[in-house]
Amino acid sequence: MATYREFHRRSITDRDAFWREQAAAIEWHEPFRQVLDYSRPPFARWFVGGTTNLCHNAVDRHLKDRAGQNALIYISTETGQDRTYTFRELHAEVNRCAAVLREQGIVKGDRILIYMPMVPEAVFAMLACVRLGAIHSVVFGGFAAHSLASRIDDAKPKLLFTADAGMRGGKPIPYKGLVDEAIKLAAHPPQKVILVNRGIDGDLKLIAGRDLDYAHERAKHMDAQVPVTWLESSEPSYILYTSGTTGKPKGVQRDTGGYAVALAASMKHIYCGKPGEAMFTTSDIGWVVGHSYIVYGPLIHGMTTILYEGLPIRPDPAIWWKIVEQHKVSVMFSSPTAIRVLKKQDQAYLTRHDVSSLRYLFLAGEPLDEPTARWISDSLKVPVLDHYWQTETGWALLSSLPGIEATPLKFGSPGFPAYGYDVKLLHETTGEEVGANEKAVVTVVPPLPPGCMTTVWGQDERFVQTYFTSFKDKFVYTTFDWGIRDDDGYYFILGRTDDVINVAGHRLGTREIEEAVSGHNNIAEVAVVGVHDAIKGQVPMAFAVVKDASRVATAEGRSAMEKEVFDVVDTALGPVGRPSRVFFVAQLPKTRSGKVLRRSIQAIAEGRDPGDLTTLDDPGGIEQVHSAVTSGD
Ligand code: AMP
Repeated sequence: MATYREFHRRSITDRDAFWREQAAAIEWHEPFRQVLDYSRPPFARWFVGGTTNLCHNAVDRHLKDRAGQNALIYISTETGQDRTYTFRELHAEVNRCAAVLREQGIVKGDRILIYMPMVPEAVFAMLACVRLGAIHSVVFGGFAAHSLASRIDDAKPKLLFTADAGMRGGKPIPYKGLVDEAIKLAAHPPQKVILVNRGIDGDLKLIAGRDLDYAHERAKHMDAQVPVTWLESSEPSYILYTSGTTGKPKGVQRDTGGYAVALAASMKHIYCGKPGEAMFTTSDIGWVVGHSYIVYGPLIHGMTTILYEGLPIRPDPAIWWKIVEQHKVSVMFSSPTAIRVLKKQDQAYLTRHDVSSLRYLFLAGEPLDEPTARWISDSLKVPVLDHYWQTETGWALLSSLPGIEATPLKFGSPGFPAYGYDVKLLHETTGEEVGANEKAVVTVVPPLPPGCMTTVWGQDERFVQTYFTSFKDKFVYTTFDWGIRDDDGYYFILGRTDDVINVAGHRLGTREIEEAVSGHNNIAEVAVVGVHDAIKGQVPMAFAVVKDASRVATAEGRSAMEKEVFDVVDTALGPVGRPSRVFFVAQLPKTRSGKVLRRSIQAIAEGRDPGDLTTLDDPGGIEQVHSAVTSGD
């Protein structure tokens, strides 16, 4: 580990020189004057005075050396469509899209909400935004009208970029009606909607004066050349909403120069991809992994990126490996949930294709259990690297760095602190640093390295309050994860310290789901907890008290009521937030001060001991939860 240790040490103790070297991996329009301005903690400004542009670095700069190389390969097993774009073609499409946006008056600093399925136009729209200096906010297609409306009201986008529909498992998921509904609900609706008509929704109706058809608009700008808008390094590139403990998602704001440098550096030190090779990241552009490693990271690095619309098991569970073989993918990035889905299939699917081009398979987003890690690395015969990060960090916080040193892998560990992160494990209450093998909170001594969130959109105070005030005497960034470090310096993540749960690698706040469930007019009170699930890691489970108990007096009544609650959640949050079960109880277990004992509910739901119940007000609540879970009704 000596080489790694020295690399990491330098990134912390000789920060300026370290990041100055990394900054050479991207193109600057004007050079920066200062590597870091940290005069206003915790707000870090990286590469002060430098001007650059994400789209320039991801697209234009490659026209010199790799114009004819594939930049984007789109594969949809949902529609059977495949499309390939060279860097030259990607450049032309992004310019067309930028011209369309510019015609609608979009200028630097304007927000654009992108609510799109996994189609190339989504990538064009993201790149077109950053080309213009406009700030995109991509919202995952699985979110419903209410979630979309709350993000609209927070970001106040001038324009919404969407499509008629997505597809999942061969079934259309109409977007347009949902967008119309969200715009109706929003207090600050966008003035324009640009819609990519994929021909999936036959009943598509455009609203005159507001909705524009992308194909029609694009046709007006076939030869468009839209100059890049140079941004000062700290100016925002995008906002991405993520869940926290409150019902209101936070807009994670990212800068421009720091993010570009962080991604470029990670492509070398972590992913070991080479320009000209192909990277396949199986996430969705609605999540941070999609932003960093479907779109910006590989393109900035001159790699071909694969955009896959579909499931890992359709048309058959060999589809991903077929893609790896066909496109000679050298770096792949997926999630533990996806691997657990594949693990349930015949192992023969994994060996049907030649995957010898693969250097590494990276996994992140949720804990990777040891049996799954072992199974996939034994079956594929490719090193599997777990690494740990968050929407907030934008790139890995804990990882091994094969580009720096080939350190041994330990199953169950996402590695050790990545360069730039001064990680400390702090005792939950005393805030003191703990020794090896002691469970504590994973924190980072600020400044956060380049690429990490710079603030909460429009709420600087919330950024400080949320992330930097967990410890009385220590000014540190809290990840809200429990962790432990072994004698060799390897870290292990032991779950969240807050009420955030992780479903199939997607973060959900239990508060958000509780608010959605409470939208049903017969729900008086509800507690939602994350419960262990063999495939998805965790699933939300709801325990609700109803106003009119007669409605849940029979098994039929309970089943009907549960279905109604599912529908309410689907409408408010989207199917991503739907609880696996809704159990109806007469009361929730609470402390004498009225706090719901979520950890005890979770323990019972997972068949564990509910722990310390001395603060419990009335044992009836615990008994109710217990009998609901054990009877399954
Ligand atoms: P998100 O911001 O949605 O990507 O979720 C970030 C959270 O996912 C982290 O705070 C962790 O709780 C969890 N997470 C991400 N990667 C890992 C990993 N490799 N191992 C364990 N937990 C992870």
